[in-house]
Amino acid sequence: MKCTSCKQGSLQPAYLDQLFPCHTCDHCGGNWILLGDYLTWKEANKDHVFAPEAGEPVAEDHKQALLCPVSGNLMLKYRVSADSDHRLDLSPSVHGMWLDKGEWALLKQKGLAGSLNRIFTDPWQRKIREASARETFQHLYEHEFGAEDYAKIQSIRQWLWQHPHKLKLIAYLTDEDPYSA
Ligand SMILES: [Zn+2]
Repeated sequence: MKCTSCKQGSLQPAYLDQLFPCHTCDHCGGNWILLGDYLTWKEANKDHVFAPEAGEPVAEDHKQALLCPVSGNLMLKYRVSADSDHRLDLSPSVHGMWLDKGEWALLKQKGLAGSLNRIFTDPWQRKIREASARETFQHLYEHEFGAEDYAKIQSIRQWLWQHPHKLKLIAYLTDEDPYSA
């Protein structure tokens, strides 16, 4: 199989971390993994603990679209987590995924090596989108209010929203002159 990522190497049969079958490119070091192989191994090794590799993983991440080495069709990109821009490529028809060099080490470090299949699910991707939106709003408020005022209004908001007289307090607060009849 030709490597569709670097277009120079070929994909050689191997075992990822000596755990489950994969194909590794002899040029760029990327890995092609069939979800079925991963799940079969996972099913038989439910309690396996993935140890992170020493040092900060340096993972490559190709931003351009990738072709499936089996079908030749375009692969889909899935974000790994909310705190990382890394994307894994999935070939939906073949159920195969592509991991750039270093991405497996990154997944182990993030504690996601045991959840490879879940990354490609709707709930997982929705959670990432929601977390990203939250973070965007946090930055926006912090920028608009300033860090100190943002912290203050956050604590006021928290106090207000759990108060039994919440609505009366908000009315009092937003009334220009709460002492006029
Ligand atoms: Zn390659």
